[in-house]
Amino acid sequence: MQDRTYTADAEPGDHVTVSGWIHEIRDLGGIAFLILRDSTGKIQIKFEKDEMDDDLVETGLGAARESVVSVSGSVEEEPRAPTGVEVVPEEVEIVSAADPELPLDPSGKVDADLSTRLDNRTLDLRKDDVQAIFEIRAEIMRAVRERFREFRCTEINTPKIVATGTEGGTELFPITYFGEEAFMNQSPQLFKQLIAGSNVERVFEIGPIFRAEEHNTPRHLNEATSIDFEGAFCDESDAMDVAEGIVKAAYEAVERNCGEELEALGLADEFAVPEGEFPRLSYEEAIERINATGELDEQLVWGDDLPTEGEKALGADVGGHYFITDWPSEIKPFYIQDHDHDEQLSTGFDLMHPRMELVSGGQREHRHEKLIDGFEQQGLDPNEFEYYTKMFKYGMPPHAGFGLGGERLVMTTLGLENIREAVLFPRDRQRLSP
Ligand code: ATP
Ligand code: MG
Repeated sequence: MQDRTYTADAEPGDHVTVSGWIHEIRDLGGIAFLILRDSTGKIQIKFEKDEMDDDLVETGLGAARESVVSVSGSVEEEPRAPTGVEVVPEEVEIVSAADPELPLDPSGKVDADLSTRLDNRTLDLRKDDVQAIFEIRAEIMRAVRERFREFRCTEINTPKIVATGTEGGTELFPITYFGEEAFMNQSPQLFKQLIAGSNVERVFEIGPIFRAEEHNTPRHLNEATSIDFEGAFCDESDAMDVAEGIVKAAYEAVERNCGEELEALGLADEFAVPEGEFPRLSYEEAIERINATGELDEQLVWGDDLPTEGEKALGADVGGHYFITDWPSEIKPFYIQDHDHDEQLSTGFDLMHPRMELVSGGQREHRHEKLIDGFEQQGLDPNEFEYYTKMFKYGMPPHAGFGLGGERLVMTTLGLENIREAVLFPRDRQRLSP
């Protein structure tokens, strides 16, 4: 494929070989057009039947849509062509013929349901708008990495096969590890803390988390991508600053570098980087405001977790990203530190998009004795976590961090209805392949 020219680079006067998929064939009788598509765009190939070799015309126009072809010829200016140029073919090779019956229409003219699309991702990704989501996802991940590096963070990778879970036993996927029970990790929480407590100090990880969520929802996956941060000598307020910086970096990068993709998604006019500082509401204020909206059948009382409808009502009320701080200790995990002035209150925070939770974080309990107490209060056996708790005896600095759902970030940035749109091959209750 050395001599291949991308369709976007074909200039009048060039002699080129373009390779790609047959997007469409328009046969007007004496003249016919083959629209060839590659990752850079589309180009028109013109067949003037009377003036061309019959074999060439038959090969070019006889192949089914979505077949892969290579066309060699000269590029000419043609103001009526979609890109202002067209190729006059001299040679057409069918590289890989497509079955005329396709499970979904990559031109997008016929809609397919999400399940059909996910079963046929290869064809689905031939659509501009679908491809745009994953280009934007890649750009968001790039921007997030770059911003973490500006925050002096080291990127790490931690094990996904573990002996114990941390985020609640019912959501664990058990596996067999050489005859022993093990689990797929729900979060890099403990590992990132162990590294923040080393000389590395500030770390981030972008990697999979596994959660056996009982129900299918539009915002839960059973395998998701978590964007994690942990920093030594940080408190919860510093961690909130970092979370806000990361989310804004994602929006800014999309605005700066993804104009064409936003266009393909029909978002070019409405897309906006969140402005101003994200407000920080205490949990107490949050439940008061939710109750005041009158959207819930039953009033929330202190200690309740926020139900989905409550989050939505508050999101609509606030109208942008916001933090919820000072959660009751008992609904936050054992590794979150409580406030010194009131042990019922934790340093845990959530960063909310008006539609859903994006981030959970907080200052961590770094005092060995208190950490052990926390395990016991949560009904966990501290002995099983000795590899972790032990390190809190050898000089553990105060530290804080958060976990941000990568797919939720993409989903909310682009206003996608279903989180499955933001992941190539989603895992849910019904879906284990592809
Ligand atoms: P939720 O209450 O929305 O189920 P959670 O509080 O259980 O989320 P955390 O343990 O706080 O989730 O995880 C941190 C972040 O990881 C969440 O804020 C979310 O963005 C993301 N996340 C967690 N679970 C999932 C999941 N099953 N699918 C997609 N993203 C998830
Ligand atoms: Mg959470």
